[in-house]
Amino acid sequence: MNTIRQLTLLGSTGSIGESTLDVVARHPDRFQVFALTANKSVEKMLEQCQRFQPRYAVLLDANSAEKLTVETRRMGLDVEVLSGVESLETVASHAEVDAVMAAIVGAAGIRPTFAAARAGKQVLLANKETLVMAGRIFMDVVKSHHATLLPIDSEHNAIHQSLPERFSGNLAEDGIRRILLTASGGPFRCSSLSELENVTPAQACAHPNWDMGRKISVDSATMMNKGLEVIETHWLFNAAPEKIQVVIHPQSVIHSMVEYVDGSVLAQLGNPDMRTPIAHAMGYPERIESGVSSLDMFEVAQLDFEAPDLARFPCLKLAYQALADGGNMPAILNAANEIAVESFLEGRMSFTAIPSMIEQTMQTVTQRDITTLDDVLEADMQAREIALEWLARHA
Ligand code: NAD
Ligand code: MG
Repeated sequence: MNTIRQLTLLGSTGSIGESTLDVVARHPDRFQVFALTANKSVEKMLEQCQRFQPRYAVLLDANSAEKLTVETRRMGLDVEVLSGVESLETVASHAEVDAVMAAIVGAAGIRPTFAAARAGKQVLLANKETLVMAGRIFMDVVKSHHATLLPIDSEHNAIHQSLPERFSGNLAEDGIRRILLTASGGPFRCSSLSELENVTPAQACAHPNWDMGRKISVDSATMMNKGLEVIETHWLFNAAPEKIQVVIHPQSVIHSMVEYVDGSVLAQLGNPDMRTPIAHAMGYPERIESGVSSLDMFEVAQLDFEAPDLARFPCLKLAYQALADGGNMPAILNAANEIAVESFLEGRMSFTAIPSMIEQTMQTVTQRDITTLDDVLEADMQAREIALEWLARHA
């Protein structure tokens, strides 16, 4: 008999949130939803409350939370509706919660994700921005509060699966030569620099293999997503930047690889469907059904590999730069990227202006050390202001 695990889903109405609920629904004997959270999507949250009957539903936005309260009462649902970032922290750290799916998009996820780690929860980490902004501080909190960290990002989940069962935290000690981080190359893998100048948000969001939220879709198109993932890899697996090789693999069937000193390369393969890494982390160390169909090798037929092109995708270079600089720079990179992506999606600047805005912001900010979460949040705010000033000058 399994004991039923209580889950909090941060970002339940998003792409990862919905895939997580799909896995939860397949295992009513294993998982119960304790809390669902989102930004302001009342309709979707109401549907999820009806279906999963959580104890708490949190909407960041107070007006939306009020509407949700009215609707849940009208339907006679026994759910407590809360709002605000403190409430996100409360449901992420509640004593009755076993595991927290951290799937809020962007820097907004950092405080509740930290709250879950501080409370010693099992943290299922999709919100890579937390590790990019505050990698060292977050890993220290995980360790000192005896939290468990399981990666949801498909590449990092694949690396986790390809590492030794008892990974020491030191690549060399475990006979690991390097990590091969795969990337689809996104929708503009074959586009020329001049073609990139005129791409639209709709084109940037149309990923060839994965169905994702808009922010990460644009990140995939600029390859900033891979840059953020290099930083994520660095912190999760204590891997020096030169031990992380990005490999373009357009089919997105191999989700990443670990190369050992004897020449062996271990990989995790599967259909590009986030329910696989989600189910892997949720069931860990057991394997549970995810609803993902078998990988049809005859259909796949061919696997291709290419080196990344840093001239067409400078965001990847900027991320390696921020990782090498350390201190506040990864947080600056992340915040400037969030403003850049938002501005591009709102039609206020071109696709190729994204790396320019980030680079200029990184050059304007003075590099410094950061030791606390408040330092990180301050760097985040500072970069947003500088990026917006840049936009005002260039729009
Ligand atoms: P999404 O945009 O589909 O969903 C985001 C969720 O966060 C929604 O529930 C939204 O209501 C909530 N949210 C947004 N802003 C918020 C705020 N300010 N405060 C509180 N909640 C807020 O995003 P997604 O594609 O599901 O991605 C979520 C995270 O997972 C991102 O960090 C992304 O990088 C990571 N990730 C996603 C995928 C994928 O396939 N979608 C794969 C790997 C990693
Ligand atoms: Mg990924």
